[in-house]
Amino acid sequence: MKAQPEASHFIDGVYVEDDAGPAIEVIYPATGEVIAVLHEATAAVLDRALASAKRAQTEWAATKPVERARILRRAADIIRDRGEELARLETLDTGKPIQETVVADWPSGADCLEWFAGLAPTVTGETIPLGRDFIYTIREPLGVCVGIGAWNYPSQIACWKAAPALSLGNAMVFKPSEVTPLGALKLASILVEAGLPPGLFNVVQGRGSVGAALVTDPRVAKVSLTGSVPTGRRVYAAAADGVRHVTMELGGKSPLIVFDDASIEDAVGAAMLGNFYSAGQVCSNGTRVFVQKGIKDRFLTRLAERTAGITLGDPLDGATQMGPLVSVAQLDKVLGYIDKAKAEGARLLCGGGRAAINTGYFVQPTVFADVTDDMTIAKEEVFGPVMAVLDFEAEEEVIARANATEFGLAAGIFTSDLARAHRVIARLEAGTCWINVYNLTPVEGPFGGSKMSGVGRENGRAAVEHYTQVKSVYVGMGPVEAPY
Ligand code: NDP
Repeated sequence: MKAQPEASHFIDGVYVEDDAGPAIEVIYPATGEVIAVLHEATAAVLDRALASAKRAQTEWAATKPVERARILRRAADIIRDRGEELARLETLDTGKPIQETVVADWPSGADCLEWFAGLAPTVTGETIPLGRDFIYTIREPLGVCVGIGAWNYPSQIACWKAAPALSLGNAMVFKPSEVTPLGALKLASILVEAGLPPGLFNVVQGRGSVGAALVTDPRVAKVSLTGSVPTGRRVYAAAADGVRHVTMELGGKSPLIVFDDASIEDAVGAAMLGNFYSAGQVCSNGTRVFVQKGIKDRFLTRLAERTAGITLGDPLDGATQMGPLVSVAQLDKVLGYIDKAKAEGARLLCGGGRAAINTGYFVQPTVFADVTDDMTIAKEEVFGPVMAVLDFEAEEEVIARANATEFGLAAGIFTSDLARAHRVIARLEAGTCWINVYNLTPVEGPFGGSKMSGVGRENGRAAVEHYTQVKSVYVGMGPVEAPY
């Protein structure tokens, strides 16, 4: 199996290679085989990427928004036309099952390009009357933005950053995670095919040090990172040195609260989606499932039955529901958390170990019951198919426990009492919430975290705030009254 791209980087409208950079092996997680070898960006490659972005952005900012939009819409059409081929590449890059990548990853990216293409031409300033004088405001692009992506949704993340940045007149230099470098290169070539002028969306490969070099370059106006909290802290601090704009989409340990008047089938289904989709490698997952004591036994029985029916296997087989974890490092990390949960006294309901499928990095879908707030598995982000079920008795109690975390990315609640649903959601400290559903993130809705889970929002109208700045222009209409 091979998925070797034309070259490692995409700069100024073309693929670029510089094999002086250290090698990056791209591994298919279902088998462990090397499917491509790329090279990290050298200082010369980074300079070329930033210089071309800087040059191209000036003209792009002066292009009519509706013309910018037309190009992005064309890119969305190309992505949809090539849905199968792109899904296959995403599966090779990440190990996620094709039944997911064909409906979730690139399709979400295409939606995002299309939606921001529609939104950007409607972004206008305002006029503020002052009697004789007036002020008008202009929403201007920021300039060159740096996007840094995580490995769990590589192509979706690239699109979620490219679409608002480009539609609003910015340029972007994007660094994918070195674990999943292939999708962003495809996006760059599709954008150029759709008519995007060279230099506006460049992709450079590399590990954290390449990301760090981008963040501190004086040509960069904004940094948008999707990654873990520790990386977010570092990148935020580095960006602050140059007083750059930031969007930080970081990790979570989100609560999913199931009251005893909820539909058990719906709540179990949502808990499974919110812990097992993408083999649990989703930042907003509801990894602390609080179940009210009255329905605990029925909930756990159905959960165990339905979890036992999950099909693991070859991610390229359309029948496979769960693939491997993205890397051997992630496999070791997740198995470590499972061992710790067992050692700390959580009750293993199902799964609990590695799944022996080929030489891939598979973990059984795992559920721990009787988890308590002090256990490691209830406190730290696992990023694997491991669900922790905790019991609760009362509304006040569960709100306090749900909020007792440094994270604040997401939260969900299942109940048939809508007054309670809104009352509880209002008090949960999380940026993205769901009622009687979980983990749906359409581009129309703002997405992001509070507390340590992030700063800023992606998607929705809210993203406009994070890819533009306001210029305020005072217009004097009469004589200047000076007291001198
Ligand atoms: P990391 O934080 O390890 O890495 C994120 C990106 O930052 C990678 O491209 C990484 O490069 C790069 N990077 C690392 N160090 C630096 C640095 N000092 N300066 C600049 N860039 C750097 O996250 P993972 O890739 O492991 O992704 C998993 C994490 O992402 C989870 O915590 C998850 O919750 C979070 N996430 C958040 C989402 C959200 O929207 N809130 C969505 C998806 C994931 P490299 O990988 O090459 O080291």
